[in-house]
Amino acid sequence: MDVSFYRSLAEVDPRVLEAIGAEERRQEGINLIASESLTSQAVREACSSVMTNKYAEGYPHKRYYGGCENVDLVEDLAIERAKKVFGADHVNVQPHSGTQANLAVYLAALKPGDKILSMELSHGGHLSHGYKINESGKIYKGEFYTVSKETGVIEYDEVLARAREVKPQIIVCGYSAYPRTVPFKEFREIADDVGALLLADIAHIAGLVAAGVHPSPVRYADYITTTTHKTLMGPRGAMIMCREEHAKDVDRAVFPGCQGGPFMHIIAAKAVCFKENMTSERKKVMEQVVKNSKAMASTLSDNGFDLVSGGTDNHLILADLSNKGLTGKLAEESLGAAGITLNKNTVPYDNEKPFVTSGIRVGTPSVTVRGMGESEMNLIGSWISEVLSDPSSEKVRDKVKAEVGSLCSKFPVYK
Ligand SMILES: *Cc1c(COP(=O)(O)O)cnc(C)c1O
Repeated sequence: MDVSFYRSLAEVDPRVLEAIGAEERRQEGINLIASESLTSQAVREACSSVMTNKYAEGYPHKRYYGGCENVDLVEDLAIERAKKVFGADHVNVQPHSGTQANLAVYLAALKPGDKILSMELSHGGHLSHGYKINESGKIYKGEFYTVSKETGVIEYDEVLARAREVKPQIIVCGYSAYPRTVPFKEFREIADDVGALLLADIAHIAGLVAAGVHPSPVRYADYITTTTHKTLMGPRGAMIMCREEHAKDVDRAVFPGCQGGPFMHIIAAKAVCFKENMTSERKKVMEQVVKNSKAMASTLSDNGFDLVSGGTDNHLILADLSNKGLTGKLAEESLGAAGITLNKNTVPYDNEKPFVTSGIRVGTPSVTVRGMGESEMNLIGSWISEVLSDPSSEKVRDKVKAEVGSLCSKFPVYK
């Protein structure tokens, strides 16, 4: 055997080990990226397990490889638990990512050239919802609806009118940067009005849905996709839920349709993540995520920030910085220098380019799971305001960075 087989990472590859260590320390800072969260020790153990060695093309008890008895067990567990968490008829836990999950749904439900009606990317949609630079917009025809210019929220009549005009085969609801409750029931009515299928992409809000702090699309959508690494706080990956009538097509679309062998170590970690999402502790964390988001929104609002839609119902806030004469890019950079990580984001009807933008997206999952509450959100919100009131001042940044450091040391991530 290769002599290095039993050597530690430190011995084999100190440069990679060092980067991992530096990343661990970076993650001790304030992370307000709304699409990220923190995985538990148990999830990380499953992720790094020997299940990564196993090929298991196919589905449990119907594999193309021998030796699948243990991976069958974890995939069965993952499916059974996901069904229980969400109350879904059928679950496929094999998609490698949210984008892959969406592509598999389109492959199951559509023919090339069919129309996808989804939210405009710059209003909070996702590339995989039919956008032209993504495969979903090359094979199918992407058409888009928007949030209302006056209210910043989805208006039923506007989406219905757009759906009647486009006559799509599938409508997508569920977003990357929408701070309000997604009206799944209304989307069902619109889909029925125009004879379209309905896909709810709950990548961002799945943890809130699992905890019952955001309404579930299960009664309304034909297909539901979600990542497992955002508010579900599991490993990087995704899954598809659907009605029983679509089960065979969805499974065939994932494998052999657009993936090969499943990542069994990740599926093991998904099983762990679903178990964690059934606990009352996790439910409390998700409730706190929303409370924290509301607390942060009110501090930002009190400091003159213009919040898209006026506030938040979920784990994220979108602030339009135009009234402050700032771009998202500058805000992201100066906050980064002060130890606060978040991302620039387009706001609806943005005049800036996607690499510049007029807004920032602020999310509370990562700070909440490490134990921070509303008073910490008020503090962080006031620091954001302080830095952005003088974004080029090194003095302000250094002062805030020191305060950030002392707050974070009271809420260690990796003890
Ligand atoms: C994050 C996200 C995805 C894609 O997930 P990846 O795992 O990055 O491919 C899909 N849809 C929505 C709405 C998302 O926010």
